[in-house]
Formats: sequence, C-alpha cells, structure tokens
Amino acid sequence: MTFESLAARVAGRVFLPGDDGFTARSKPFNERYASTVPAAVVSAVGVEDVATAITWARENSVPLVARGGGHSYAGTSVNTGLVLDLQGLDSVHVDPDTALVTVGGGTRMKALYEALRPHDVTFPLGNSDEVAIGGLTLGGGVAAVSRAFGLTCDSLVSTDVVLADGSSVTCSATENADLFWACRGGGGGNFGVNTSFTFQARPVVASATCLMLWEWSDAIDVVLVAQEIQRTAPDALSLRIGLTSNGMVSLIGWHLGSADELRVLLAPLLVSNPMRCDIADRTYWEAVEYVHHETAGGAFAGRTRTTSVPLPEEGVRTLVTAVSKWPGSSNPDGGGAALFGWGGAINALDATESAFPHREALFLVSLDTSWTSSDGPQVVRDNLEWLTALHEDIGEHTDDASYLNFTDPDLADWRQAYHGPNLARLGEVKKRYDPDRFFTFSQAV
Ligand SMILES: Cc1cc2nc3c(=O)[nH]c(=O)nc-3n(C[C@H](O)[C@H](O)[C@H](O)COP(=O)(O)OP(=O)(O)OC[C@H]3O[C@@H](n4cnc5c(N)ncnc54)[C@H](O)[C@@H]3O)c2cc1C
Repeated sequence: MTFESLAARVAGRVFLPGDDGFTARSKPFNERYASTVPAAVVSAVGVEDVATAITWARENSVPLVARGGGHSYAGTSVNTGLVLDLQGLDSVHVDPDTALVTVGGGTRMKALYEALRPHDVTFPLGNSDEVAIGGLTLGGGVAAVSRAFGLTCDSLVSTDVVLADGSSVTCSATENADLFWACRGGGGGNFGVNTSFTFQARPVVASATCLMLWEWSDAIDVVLVAQEIQRTAPDALSLRIGLTSNGMVSLIGWHLGSADELRVLLAPLLVSNPMRCDIADRTYWEAVEYVHHETAGGAFAGRTRTTSVPLPEEGVRTLVTAVSKWPGSSNPDGGGAALFGWGGAINALDATESAFPHREALFLVSLDTSWTSSDGPQVVRDNLEWLTALHEDIGEHTDDASYLNFTDPDLADWRQAYHGPNLARLGEVKKRYDPDRFFTFSQAV
C-alpha cells in the first residue's frame, strides 16, 4: 500500500513506521494494545486535511480511525490501517463576552485548562493532562464538578463534524439535531470526525478539597459512611471513594464552597481516625491541580457498573474482599475499586435527552487492574480473571449499566450497558450519517 498519494494531498504530514514521530502519534496510551501498529498516520493540520484523509481512505479501502489523545481504555484510536491524528487541531478560543469556548477536535486537557484559566471560566473537564476533548465529550465526560455542572457533553452548544462522505456539517440543538444528540454521549469514532466543539463555560467558583486516608481495617465502615455523605450532600460536593490493592482506603473530594462547609459535610468521617486528613480552601484552579491524576501507564483494564443507591454492606464487603485478593503484577498502579459520586446535575436530564443514558446513578462503581509488558501471560490472565469475577460479583448489588468512556472490550452486553434506552436511536443516526459504516471498531454503534 502506498501513502504517497495521501501525503501529496494533505497540508499535514504522513508518518510511516520508523519515521520520527510515528510512535508518538499512534501508540495507544493503554499498552495492552501496544501490538496494534498502523500502516500509516496522517497528522491533520486543519478541517480540509480531515476531509481529505477520509476521502482518500474510502477511495483506497483503507480503514481509518481518528485519534485525539489516544487514551481509549480499549485502544479504539489505533488500527492496522490509517490513524488520523488530530493533535494539530488544538486551537482554543474563549469569547470573554459570552463565555463560549471553541476548542479544536484534538485539544488535550492541559492546553485547555491553560487557555481557560486567564478568563476564570470553566466547564467540566477530565483530570489527566493528555486526555483529549474529542473522546471525552463524545462519550459523556465526567469531572469532579459534574454533580454541580453536569457532564462535559452537557455544556456542548455545537460541534463541527466531517462525515464519511467528506462533507462537513455543524450540529447543534437546531441544526442536524439528531447528530448533535448522538454526539452528547453516543461515543467517539462512530458518526464522523469532530473537528471542533463549542461549549458554554461559566465563571469559576471558590472551592475546597479533601484528601483522607485510612487503614484497610477501616475499609467497610468508611465506605458505608462516605456513601451516605455523598447521598445526602448538596450537588456542590463530589467524592471519590477508593480501595486500592496497596491496602489503602481513600477519599478525594471537591466542594464548590468553603473548607468550613466541607468539614461539616465530612463530620461523620472526621471522628473515624483517618491516617491523613487534608481539608483546605482552594481557588478553582488549585482544586483542578489537587485532583489532577496521572497513572503509571503500562497496560490496564477497567470495568464499570452504576448504582442509584449506596452499596449495601454486603456489596462493600465484596469490593473489600476482592481488592485484598488482587493477584498482583509489576505495575505500581495495582488494582482496585472506586466509587465516583455521580448524580446531582448529571441527573437533571432524562436518560433519552442526550445519548448519555445514565441519568439516575448515584455512583459509578469502577473496577480496575494493571500490569506491564514485563509480566508474563499468566499474570495477565490472573488479573483479567480477577476483574471479571469482581465485575460479576458486584453485579448483584448494581445495575447492568457501564460508562462508555471507561471502555470495556470484555463486556458481553455492551450495547445495552453503554447505551440503554438510546440504542435504537443511535442506530438510526448511524444509518443516516454513516450508512456504509465507514467508521467502525469492535464496539461501534
Ligand atoms: C488516564 C486517564 C484519565 C481519564 N480521565 C477521565 C476523566 O476524568 N473523566 C472522564 O469522563 N473520562 C476520563 N477518562 C476516559 C476518557 O474520557 C476516554 O478514554 C476518552 O475516550 C479519551 O479520549 P481521547 O481523545 O484521549 O482518546 P482516543 O483514544 O484518541 O479516542 C477515543 C475514541 O474517540 C474517538 N475520537 C477521538 N477524538 C475524536 C474526534 N475529535 N471525533 C470523533 N471521534 C473521536 C476515537 O476514534 C476513539 O474511538 C480517562 C482515561 C484515562 C486513560
């Protein structure tokens, strides 16, 4: 296959295996998929390049996938054909009068936060530097402030999409409204390549954060109390309750209010002898940095379920017991379970108002494990079996619903779990905008 004809038609560059920059533009963040290497990468510098790459790929019957930040849990932004690298589409424009923010389709979180900060405006964004706006928004996008401000996709006002036939459309509530609906939680890589997104931002809010840690022996009591705090808390408070294989119980929280208010909300836990308790007033931007999270990388797998009520003691015991029996690997991230506080403003919409269906959840129950390339196949098998068993066991206390952006390639009933009541309508949108299924991957609509 020759890519010279593509290189001649785009303003950006085509990278072949061995070229400097090829790996950086194609390697999946999750090294579980490191063995998938594309035949070429085309780095777009503008909308025309995106359209040209799609048209060329169709003409030459080369499968194409778009790559934003490359952070798909399931490696869906790499294939063995052509990777369309969007990192050149990274402009951010903030209108100071309207707080409308227009973001290039490949912009990463770090650059976006940096562009918003001088204007003191914000909307819900991820907490990791290199996750890009495309995958985040199209799959929903959950932030620590989502209980107050909704999902990333709930702030979306319009988006420009290059379709499978190479044409460009703008979609919003009033223009191509069915595609706009699908772009709010229906999942990246399905309907076209989104070259820009416009969001309605809002003024930042003075905040407080907490980090509390406990011994493993306190795990069950702490999780039960923390769940109850989240259930009864105002939407301004969002908690992440963590159980990790290094024997740590953690609570990370962001409150859109004062540290004094946060101490009152957390009072039932302050008497529980935490090993560490750090509660402080922060500016909004300090809070962004406080919850900022980078992983050790390597290979990982995650599985999720939602629950609209706190887990009962038996369910919490299931998590604690399983995490204490994590099979081990050489990845310092280990394995664990986390309860992310959902609900609040996320649930202000009905399940069918946007393609993101999980509008009744109180927690996302996220289970994960990790390993590295130096671990042998038996370690990988043990870890995946551990994860599958835990996912099944906790199913007794949770709903059969999963968060599409924590993509789970091993999920059997993924269509229903990701899309719920929106599955049929997503299928109609797919038929209308991509009738030949040019955009496809293992869990495509
Ligand atoms: C370390 C880490 C931290 C994370 N933090 C959060 C978090 O705080 N909140 C949260 O909700 N999720 C989070 N996630 C999950 C994240 O939202 C998803 O992995 C998301 O898909 C990543 O987007 P990306 O553009 O970086 O990934 P990619 O792998 O580049 O893309 C993911 C999918 O979207 C498609 N896609 C990407 N850009 C476009 C585009 N412009 N147009 C059309 N399709 C596109 C790709 O083809 C692929 O199918 C995190 C993931 C990781 C690994």
